[in-house]
Amino acid sequence: GALCFLDHFGPVDVVTGAGMRVGPHPHIGLQTVSWLLQGEILHRDSLGYVQHIRPGQLNLMTAGRGIAHSEESPAGRPSGLHGAQLWIALPEPQRHCDPAFDHYADLPLMTHDGLRITLLAGEALGERSPAKIHSPLVGLDLAADGPVTVTLPLRAEFEYGALVLEGEVGVGGEALAPGTLLYLDRGRSVLPLRTTGAARMLLLGGEPFAEDILMWWNFVGRSKDEIVQVTRDWNAGRHFGEVRGYDGARLVAPLPPWTT
Ligand code: MN
Repeated sequence: GALCFLDHFGPVDVVTGAGMRVGPHPHIGLQTVSWLLQGEILHRDSLGYVQHIRPGQLNLMTAGRGIAHSEESPAGRPSGLHGAQLWIALPEPQRHCDPAFDHYADLPLMTHDGLRITLLAGEALGERSPAKIHSPLVGLDLAADGPVTVTLPLRAEFEYGALVLEGEVGVGGEALAPGTLLYLDRGRSVLPLRTTGAARMLLLGGEPFAEDILMWWNFVGRSKDEIVQVTRDWNAGRHFGEVRGYDGARLVAPLPPWTT
């Protein structure tokens, strides 16, 4: 679907050292979805939002025409950090929209044949996530506390990606462990899942994105000229506003290789 990037980070010990420190940096043309299994992150952005995120909560940042933010391990944090950040490309009608930030402390929780399911985005099993998205897609966190054999309904018009975060899961007959994203093409109406012990995974899906996107650094655009322009804007301190309160340097945007 419109999901164009996925970063699975941790589990890592952040009790010593500085922990996560991602200085102020810009985004355009996408939404970032932050989801934690363990730990805590403090988000600050150029709209003025300062938001802690903890496991079970969702941060959804809509960059639209431009936003800047920082992400850091807060003082007094738990010792471990483990999570994922997904990027969703915005379709043409929305990609120049005003930037926005939403924090969802409560998401739909379901159980399905022993599997605990949190609905991050979209609709599944009769529930709908409150997360504001702009194209047909779904995001599910699936948790097993022990051996589980289950069949999940899929939407045949969606393609899917499965990413195991903890443990091992048999996904449609493939043994999947952390570090590998399994891609499933359209045309499936069910997905058999099997675990032999505790496991955690993300199941993500959506209608294939019809637009060609151009990704460079933290930008999702359509043309090289557009990417060069926002790179120069950010490095000159234009367009994106300012992130206040982060104790460190803003990131410098690398010039794309095609820049003349
Ligand atoms: Mn970011």
